[in-house]
Amino acid sequence: MTKLAPVLSAHWDEKDSFTLEGYKRHGGYTASAKALTMDPDAIIQLVKDSGLRGRGGAGFPTGMKWGFIPQGDNKDHYLVVNADESEPGTCKDTPLLMANPHVLIEGCIIACHAIRAKHAFIYIRGEVTHVVRRVNQAIADAYAAGILGNGIDVVLHIGAGAYICGEETALLDSLEGFRGQPRLRPPFPAIAGLYARPTVVNNVESIASVPAIVNNGAEWYQSMGTEKSKGTTLYSLSGHVVNPGQFEAPLGITLREILDLAGGVRPGHKLKFWTPGGSSTPLFTDAHLDVPLDYEGVAAAGSMLGTKALQIFDETTCVVRAVLRWTEFYKHESCGKCTPCREGTWWLVQILRDLEAGKGTEADLAKLLDLCDNIMGRSFCALGDGATSPITSSIKYFREEYIAHLTQGGCPFDPVASTLFAGAGA
Ligand code: SF4
Repeated sequence: MTKLAPVLSAHWDEKDSFTLEGYKRHGGYTASAKALTMDPDAIIQLVKDSGLRGRGGAGFPTGMKWGFIPQGDNKDHYLVVNADESEPGTCKDTPLLMANPHVLIEGCIIACHAIRAKHAFIYIRGEVTHVVRRVNQAIADAYAAGILGNGIDVVLHIGAGAYICGEETALLDSLEGFRGQPRLRPPFPAIAGLYARPTVVNNVESIASVPAIVNNGAEWYQSMGTEKSKGTTLYSLSGHVVNPGQFEAPLGITLREILDLAGGVRPGHKLKFWTPGGSSTPLFTDAHLDVPLDYEGVAAAGSMLGTKALQIFDETTCVVRAVLRWTEFYKHESCGKCTPCREGTWWLVQILRDLEAGKGTEADLAKLLDLCDNIMGRSFCALGDGATSPITSSIKYFREEYIAHLTQGGCPFDPVASTLFAGAGA
């Protein structure tokens, strides 16, 4: 029995799924037409009742976030869509926007009406020029058809390519024309967000999920998923699998089931480690194949659902090298605002480089963990915490592989696969 449940991805295989005509053929823009006749508070209640939780990583209830916007305050309100997808391994918003940009625009109209906003801003990563062009065209088509411009406007903003701008307050600073760095909270964006006005910041997938909820009702959405993690979501499968790609399934599916649907780990190889929610979430191993991939299940097993970026690594991968590569990314993307992350990620890279090259000592492993301990919980935003996750979890599960680098004077995976470290994945 298939576990897939395509809602967002239902028509991605149609040639014109991204066009206005293709979207309308399957009922596109009927949900926004219906929502515009509804009381805004009723829409917020509907989204609350559906159980939809933010798909950008934190899993905060979407309806509750909308409900935080003060009403009757005579201020402009804003909706900001976070399309700055750039976590290593995360690839769900990009294909969604390529296949169906209109579902996001329709979701923006509904959300704007609910929070009494007249403007939505879509902040998109500038490097993905093909996505920028597609969303731009969809917005232009929606204006030409009179769908936008009648009280609700959507503006596409192209970011310069900084991972930190995926953090919602850094994104707001960037949108206002400043250097993208996280803001001190409170005040939260719901009180003082974009241009110091009440603002909702939501992920692409969260907003794109709303039209189907308006059309089909909260009970329909609640019927999918698990007790506290409702609905379907996009899992991105990448790495050493036969058929990588996006798999839309109810929350709570397991990696074992998704791997079955994807043809499994590449032939002749076995799973060694994987990320449940992108590279900033603690690693899992083959012992976690049956963990339910919902917010609670993954947390109970010691990691985070994050962006549902399932990166699969087989036994040919050196975990130390993989973790070093991710850490280099976090060092590069550290915005520099706070000392634990700015200085700490630099030191993490230095120590990991030595360890990977077989030049370190066992004391360096303890130093690495001590550094992680000093970054975790002491950084200004989640980037610092996230940078430590792959390090601490990899040492927890693959300590002997780190040691092997030291005892063998280098990576046991070099120079050829035939010299693979015998204990890898054990
Ligand atoms: Fe910047 Fe890193 Fe501090 Fe976040 S944790 S504010 S990215 S330096």
